[in-house]
Amino acid sequence: MTTLLVKNAMLLATMDGQRREISHGGLFARDGFIEQVGRTETLPGDADLVLDLDGHVVLPGLINTHHHFYQTLTRAVPAAQDANLFNWLQTLYPIWARMQPEDIYISTQIALAELALSGCTTASDHLYLFPNGSRLDEEIQAGKEIGMRLHASRGSMSLGESAGGLPPDEVVEDEKFILKDTQRVIEAYHDPDPGSFVQIVVAPCSPFSVTPDLMKASAELARSHNVQMHTHLAETLDEELFCQQKFGYRPVAFMEALDWIGDDVWFAHSVFVNDMEIDLYASTGCGVAHCPSSNMRLGSGIAPLMQMVQTGVDVGLGVDGSASNDGSHMLAEARQALLLARLKAALGGASRSEDDAPALITARQALEIATLGGAAVLGRPDLGSLQPGKCADFIAIDMNRLAYAGALHDPLAAIVFCAPINVDHAVVGGEFVVKDGQLAKVDLTDLIARHNQAAHRLMQ
Ligand SMILES: [Zn+2]
Repeated sequence: MTTLLVKNAMLLATMDGQRREISHGGLFARDGFIEQVGRTETLPGDADLVLDLDGHVVLPGLINTHHHFYQTLTRAVPAAQDANLFNWLQTLYPIWARMQPEDIYISTQIALAELALSGCTTASDHLYLFPNGSRLDEEIQAGKEIGMRLHASRGSMSLGESAGGLPPDEVVEDEKFILKDTQRVIEAYHDPDPGSFVQIVVAPCSPFSVTPDLMKASAELARSHNVQMHTHLAETLDEELFCQQKFGYRPVAFMEALDWIGDDVWFAHSVFVNDMEIDLYASTGCGVAHCPSSNMRLGSGIAPLMQMVQTGVDVGLGVDGSASNDGSHMLAEARQALLLARLKAALGGASRSEDDAPALITARQALEIATLGGAAVLGRPDLGSLQPGKCADFIAIDMNRLAYAGALHDPLAAIVFCAPINVDHAVVGGEFVVKDGQLAKVDLTDLIARHNQAAHRLMQ
């Protein structure tokens, strides 16, 4: 048994049912799970590990619900800098086709390192191409070494250019093999228990890169193993047009026809969804990974974030792949979500309050989406808040720093409104992933050098 005591936090934001914010707060955890949360004087006086967080804000670890880790190898590629989604993909597919298994491993560690330093403790990744013998196993091994919780998607592409799809034939896989390999990784790695560090997700890439048959078979496979399903949906107007022309449906209706609606499904983006589609998400429990930076970077559009939240849709945050963001910073993404939702309100997309001023998303709502929202989207009731029985996953930020000078009237809001910083500590299941601002388990200097070599090789 290992116990952990956090004490003396300037403020501990619980994200519990009452959204309690406890000054002089702390928590007591045993074997990775929280037993008590409260003011320091109400907690046990000692533990195996004691963390005095005087001057720090403590909050639940942030949860990233959409990423493509491998894309850290192709950030800011000149030919893809100013392209919209379809052109961007067609520029990058041939580069990605050169990836080796080792590249999956290195890029996973780089993406998770960046996420952890930005406050993330649980990340979902969507890996959907497996060139040159690459497998999801490399990603899972790399994730274990960092120490974060990982929802690893066995993604897929099967509809190559010659069959009317977008990706070149060299990066698509045989459908029978996709299903067999997906079943293999579920059986080898998926852990459904509370406190799970690895879950497998079934995740065909998008309507324009797989066949309807594979979508249906993937849903059957996922449901027979009780694992979650994920794909890109309603990201751009091009995609909406493609779905209507090729399949005769709007994207969400197409998912309904394929039995891809339910509380075991979450979609990345959902920028182009109408009122009825949002109601359908809410009534069926479909989740959304909101990726504001990516949507702006690719010029895709503005998702109706607040309409979804107010209608009762589970919405989490996603930094999206690093070739379309190009940073994996969760606090930056929470800030970006707040700013973009406010812009949308100004453009007339939000309901009006009594004085006819747009109703604006608050800093606390942005943090709630990044924590509780992400936990709901990933189907993780054991994550997202600091309460007895939940995982001891939290981050701590020293408020005595340049970025927050003059903002201590409201330390929690300062974390969203002020310039995004790297956190001082990130703890997952009671263990440090980030300690004193440094990665606790992996040497970052060596990792960056190997990652840059791999990125350079891919561009040859
Ligand atoms: Zn994506």
